[in-house]
Amino acid sequence: MLAMNYRGPYRVRVDEKPMPAILHPEDAIVRVTRSCICGSDLHLYHGMVPDTRVGTTFGHEFCGVVEQVGPEVRNLKPGDHVLVPFNIACGKCEFCQQGLFGNCHESNAQATAVGGIFGYSHTAGGYDGGQAQYVRVPYADVGPMVIPDWMDPDDAVLLTDVVPTGYQAAEMGGIRPGDTVVVFGAGPVGLMAARSAWLFGAGRVIVIDHIEYRLDFARTYCPAEVYNFREIDDIVVFLKKQTDSLGADVCIDAVGGDAAGNALQTLIGTKLKLEAGNAIALHWAINSVKKGGVVSIVGVYGPTGNIVPIGNVVNKGITLRANQASVKRLLPRLVEHIREGRIDPKAMITHRVPLADIADAYHLFSAKLDGCIKPVLLPNG
Ligand code: NAD
Ligand code: ZN
Repeated sequence: MLAMNYRGPYRVRVDEKPMPAILHPEDAIVRVTRSCICGSDLHLYHGMVPDTRVGTTFGHEFCGVVEQVGPEVRNLKPGDHVLVPFNIACGKCEFCQQGLFGNCHESNAQATAVGGIFGYSHTAGGYDGGQAQYVRVPYADVGPMVIPDWMDPDDAVLLTDVVPTGYQAAEMGGIRPGDTVVVFGAGPVGLMAARSAWLFGAGRVIVIDHIEYRLDFARTYCPAEVYNFREIDDIVVFLKKQTDSLGADVCIDAVGGDAAGNALQTLIGTKLKLEAGNAIALHWAINSVKKGGVVSIVGVYGPTGNIVPIGNVVNKGITLRANQASVKRLLPRLVEHIREGRIDPKAMITHRVPLADIADAYHLFSAKLDGCIKPVLLPNG
């Protein structure tokens, strides 16, 4: 079969690889029909995530058709159309039992923090991902959901990650009716967080980025007030002025830290570079939230430390909340939101790309070119 093959930072290609096999009685093999590239894949692509081994296949946002099931799989059968959450979860451990499917203790042998994730380095279990024609899906009775007949597959594939992630970002914000919510990052995750903020009762939603075409999209899609941080002298001072000098009730970090972020630091200035490490958006969120407010973090920072202004967290009495999204827990609610037309995930898809053109797709999405918001790969045509 054909699959994405990581060759080192900024180098990806497609190669012939062996077909995945059932390795455990609860496994399934899925033929992939759609597979997205995620902002999280960019952290791997930029070389930020430790133990990202050459030769692995990325891809944690995919849907497809069940090809084969192991002898202990009860809920799926060959021919079922399924979406597969990015978290690999056993469903039985202490954390899965609490609905923390992103923190499963069994699916990642290292089990230090994150649970297993498809195609997300050996730090997240070393599983091959779905930017391929076929993929092995462990614990097939737990994560995968049969796609309802009425649902557009473009919506289904976005339910595997960015929709629940954005929604959970808003949920973790503990938004109260009328709250002002500021979202840093107008990528698919930030867009969905801003859209979801309204569903939780926000009174005002502001989105910050520096990519004009994404801000334009956010203005009508979320909808949100949008600001380009490159055009503003000091974004923290600006946001205070916008919010009666007190600050936002809730700030959401939908950026994370990565090598691309470091390029931004050069642009923004040496002072911030020294203070913020590679966590600029998180600094801005902590410094522009109101005293007693909430900062909700879904941006990915890799497993190692970053420089956080912890003094201000203490002095302002801020609540910090963060996690990988727990996709399975949120699916029933999100399916209803799509059915009722309250969210429209597929509108974020800007590019449909054959697997063979994967290097171009990574480049476009990483460099934010050609109006790219969300690229979808079509591994089987
Ligand atoms: P993306 O790369 O498409 O979007 C990130 C956006 O942030 C870009 O538009 C970029 O211009 C903007 N940005 C960069 N620096 C900024 C700053 N200082 N202030 C404001 N905006 C800034 O990525 P995405 O797919 O939307 O993902 C966003 C983040 O969410 C990534 O870190 C990704 O790894 C993370 N993520 C987390 C989970 C989870 O479960 N917690 C799941 C999916 C993605
Ligand atoms: Zn993702």
